[in-house]
Amino acid sequence: MSTKTISYIAITSIILILLTQSYLVFDYFYTVKFSIIRESDSILKEAFRSDLNQRNETYLNILKENTIQEGNDIDNAEDVKIIDFDMRETDTISNENLLNKFDIIMNVFIGQLVPLNVNTLDSITGLILKERNITSQFSVHIINPTTQEIISSSKSTFRNTFFTIPSQLYPLDFEDKEALQLILINPFSEIIKRMGLMLIGSILFSIIALLAFRFLIKTLMKQKKLVKFKNEFLSNIAHELKRPVSSLIVNLDCLKEPVFYDNAPMRDTMLNNSINSLTELNGTISMIVGLAKVEEGLLVLNRLPVNLIKIINDLKSRFISSPSKNITINTDYDSKEIIISADGLMLTQCFANLIDNSIKYSKQNVVIDVSINTLSHSNVELNFKDNGIGIPDEKISTIFEKYSRVDNNTKVNGFGIGLSYVKTIIEKHGGKISVTSELGKGSNFKIILPKK
Ligand code: ADP
Repeated sequence: MSTKTISYIAITSIILILLTQSYLVFDYFYTVKFSIIRESDSILKEAFRSDLNQRNETYLNILKENTIQEGNDIDNAEDVKIIDFDMRETDTISNENLLNKFDIIMNVFIGQLVPLNVNTLDSITGLILKERNITSQFSVHIINPTTQEIISSSKSTFRNTFFTIPSQLYPLDFEDKEALQLILINPFSEIIKRMGLMLIGSILFSIIALLAFRFLIKTLMKQKKLVKFKNEFLSNIAHELKRPVSSLIVNLDCLKEPVFYDNAPMRDTMLNNSINSLTELNGTISMIVGLAKVEEGLLVLNRLPVNLIKIINDLKSRFISSPSKNITINTDYDSKEIIISADGLMLTQCFANLIDNSIKYSKQNVVIDVSINTLSHSNVELNFKDNGIGIPDEKISTIFEKYSRVDNNTKVNGFGIGLSYVKTIIEKHGGKISVTSELGKGSNFKIILPKK
């Protein structure tokens, strides 16, 4: 499956996941909202009945007082019983309608002497809301059910907005003139509080899904980069291997010609060119194998006494014969022989890389100064200085990394493992490598190597 297809599937899946999550959250939000509306219906009813009870008591007291004033026996007044409305909450639903009608009759009857007061109802409602842990603001209204006009309200500043949740209308008479309504003002914090775990779970799930999606896309991008990089690397490596092979074929083809049999200088040049091509090929292959061995932890140094001066002199004769550029290699040694214990083949490959880079990354006239100095009893210092194009400051820290190349050098052959190999081998010997460079003027690679 291609990266593009996987990306499309991932994007579609994340959109579907987020849409489903949003749908579930909204659905649950409305469920909680309706449960609050149902609860406010029952709160209003409870408050109204409690208020009716209180008014009923007041009504009876007034009746008693009137009866006493009219000279009737006080015991006759006791015949009028206080109806306990709260007791009726345990009745069945079918009885509820009947009871509502009874509430209306009682309200109309008691209201003639003790009319309903929204502020009293407001205080009772407040207490019930508190009991039920509902902290949002509220208002109790008497409204006209037909015109929806507010007749009286417990909160004078109240305004009906999107942020208010009204209960059902609770009729106060049989002519549809007045009804009660409880309005919860901005109860969203209450709704969100009730959604609690579901909301947190949903948000967490969405975050995890988004993070997983980000990780997937990042991995896909990385993979795409890797595939591109692998293709580039393979084509570069093929080119690097093909170059010395082509040169070898040309030289060997020429050597076959009878005209060169007796021309000793030409024959020697071609033989030298062939040897150089093979050495270059061998060097590139050794580097690739060497780096692979380092990664697998299998690289072992074959330490023997080696003369650094001899290595540099051999490389000098190999590189100055290059026909492509005018190459001068100056050498400066502080003694005739500088012997250290090292893997001669690997060090030769490292120094060859540095000289080869100095030639590759310079103009037509190349001047390379190689110096070797004994620093102390235990260390030697080598410097490879050139007059090449130099390295930009911001790239200095990365050029020793594997596959790292300076962007504007992409036209020059190479695949970015030379300096990485040099650093790895020098450090494996217990040494250090550093570079100083100035754009347009040249670079200096300094190596410190222990003698043993
Ligand atoms: P390669 O030469 O195959 O690109 P290297 O690892 O040898 O890989 O070098 C890494 C990069 O460092 C090169 O691409 C080049 O941009 C820069 N570089 C190395 N040596 C020199 C030098 N002597 N002068 C200028 N730039 C250099």
